[in-house]
Amino acid sequence: MTTITLALGDITRESVDAIVNAANSSLLGGGGVDGAIHRRGGPAILEECRKLRASHYGKGLPTGQAVATTAGELDAQWVIHTVGPVFSESEDRSELLASCYRESLRVADELGARTVAFPAISTGVYRWPMQDAARIAVETVRSTETAVEEVRFVLFDERAYEVFAAQVR
Ligand code: ADP
Repeated sequence: MTTITLALGDITRESVDAIVNAANSSLLGGGGVDGAIHRRGGPAILEECRKLRASHYGKGLPTGQAVATTAGELDAQWVIHTVGPVFSESEDRSELLASCYRESLRVADELGARTVAFPAISTGVYRWPMQDAARIAVETVRSTETAVEEVRFVLFDERAYEVFAAQVR
């Protein structure tokens, strides 16, 4: 049984086994959550990302996939990097967003992580409407077989928190 919990604030302050990063496909860092994770986690994360790029993801990590690195100085053992889809009005990319949550949980299971913190993937620079993103996030976690005991959605502002809370209720 996976319990879904909610937290308000900065995901880089969470104590969990694994923190999920809304990365971009380059794995070389960016703004938003990605920037915050690399800033607080320190250079060890980027160093592992560079190695992964060189060994496996020369063309970038594909959208909807996930890969783990050290969490550096964060209070976690791993960062799981996943690439969300950019929201599109003309194309339904929901399956790719669902895949981010499923694949991150699959990687978490491989690692043996029992507590995992997720940001609201794709709802920042990638412009996914919060309510739809929350529905996909919660439905996907609820329908995924995993040994993860707690999935904690960490929302950056009160509006996002309320939208997720309405979805979890
Ligand atoms: P994406 O490119 O997938 O849209 P962003 O990082 O731009 O990723 O935004 C994803 C969500 O994370 C947004 O809702 C944004 O408000 C939120 N966010 C930004 N910084 C943090 C942080 N430090 N902790 C938790 N959530 C954050």
